[in-house]
This record gives sequence, structure tokens and C-alpha cells, in this order.
Amino acid sequence: MASDAELIYEGKAKKLYKGQQAGTLVQYFKDDATAFNAQKKDTITGKGILNNLISSHLFPAVGEMGIPHHFIDRLSPREQLVKSVEIIPLEIIIRNTAAGSICARLGMEEGSRLDHTLVEFCLKDDALGDPVIATEHIRLMGLASDDELDQIVDYSLRINDFLSGLFFAIGIRLVDFKLEFGRYQQDGDDIVILADELSPDNCRLWDISTDEKMDKDRFRRDLGGLIEAYSEIARRLGLEIPDITAS
Ligand code: UDP
Repeated sequence: MASDAELIYEGKAKKLYKGQQAGTLVQYFKDDATAFNAQKKDTITGKGILNNLISSHLFPAVGEMGIPHHFIDRLSPREQLVKSVEIIPLEIIIRNTAAGSICARLGMEEGSRLDHTLVEFCLKDDALGDPVIATEHIRLMGLASDDELDQIVDYSLRINDFLSGLFFAIGIRLVDFKLEFGRYQQDGDDIVILADELSPDNCRLWDISTDEKMDKDRFRRDLGGLIEAYSEIARRLGLEIPDITAS
């Protein structure tokens, strides 16, 4: 990243710099991996490059389906240009199959298919451990309007249908994933658009024939082979993998 660019925000896996044009940001993908609310940390060389590559492929694809999003262009192996948005402080979790926190929370068996797609909301607040919250809390705390929430759920379900099919076609089950949305000013109106990233860091992806995990659970559960799994996803998506050792 150009050393004179102003750092706006540093998160666990990405940094955001001010873009050259007003209303834009440069999203820089780090190799840092964290889990369990950052209690587990490591650096996995090449993870950021693969997430940028995969996310830069999936955002325009989702856009083709009519979902507005922040992605503008992939600038380099670790950077993408995005529209600057006001992030709505919610993590939207979409689940097709039970895995991860819902199993611990509700006693579901990992791998059991859900009768219908579940959309959950979590408060985006690391200090509180991103707790699950109800729409009543969202309304009470003024985090999003009812119209925004309706739009977010509609977009989330459409993205789920689209990505489930896209991954199914390359032999991968989309188990669950996390989305973030932001407010963006367009022609004087605030609209809700998809932000953040779409990558194996934010999705659970299982090989359909072997059930092998191809996502960040390889790090969370010390399974090893994370780079190989992310590379395999990129390969199946037909993407050309750059040198993943580049800094
Ligand atoms: N997720 C995420 N960031 C978070 C929490 C969850 O990207 O801060 C993703 C996670 O990768 C998985 C889905 O959301 O694909 C559901 O995660 P879950 O609630 O099971 O939480 P976790 O297993 O991370 O405790």
C-alpha cells in the first residue's frame, strides 16, 4: 500500500485506507487469522491474497444478480478499491446446515440440514463477543430501521440462493456464512449495500463428496492445510492464483 495513504481503520483481517477518489477506500487483506473473539491468533502466509482473489470474484458475481455492493476493483494481490460506507453494526449469519456456534448454543448436531434457511443477527461488538440479538433489540437500540432490516434479509436470502448454487456447481456445500451491510449515499438517498468480504474466512464450505472442511475452521480447529483448501476453492472457481508469498 502506498505509504502516504491514510489508514482509516485496522480490523482483525483487513486494513482500510483512504482511497484517492472521494468516497472510496482501499481494503487491504492481511494474513492475520483470529478465532474465538481473537483469543486464538496466528499469521498464515498467503491467506489475505487468496481471500482478496476469491472475494474480488464473488462480489461482481453477486452484483450481476442485482445485489448492490461496495466492490469497485481488485487493485493488487492484497488490495481492492471499495465504496466507502457507514457500516451497519450487525453481522448477518445465514445458515443452511448446523455448524459452529449454533450447535454449542442450541444443541444441534453439526452437519444436520436445517429445514429452512436461518438468518440470525449478531451485534458487531468485539468487546461483547458479537452476541446474537433479536430484531426487537435492533429496533430498541436504533441500529437499523425496519425497512433496512427487510432489505438486508431479502438480499441475504438472495445471496444465499445464488452462492449455494455457485458452490454446488464446483462440488462445495455452502454450510453458513456471515455478511455485513453498509449505508451508502446514492442520488441523495441512503441505500443499503453489501460490504466487507465474501471469502472462506467468512463462510463454512464443505467438499460435497468428502465433507472435508475448506474454510477457516481449518484454523479454528487446528486441522492444518488452510492455504491448500483456500487455493483449491480458487482453483475450482477457475481463478488464476498469484504468488501467495508476496508481501
Ligand atoms: N463468522 C464470521 N465472523 C464472525 C462470526 C462468524 O465470519 O465474527 C462466520 C463464520 O465463519 C461462519 C458463520 O459466520 O461461516 C457462522 O459462524 P458461527 O456463528 O458458527 O460462529 P463461530 O463458529 O465463528 O463461533
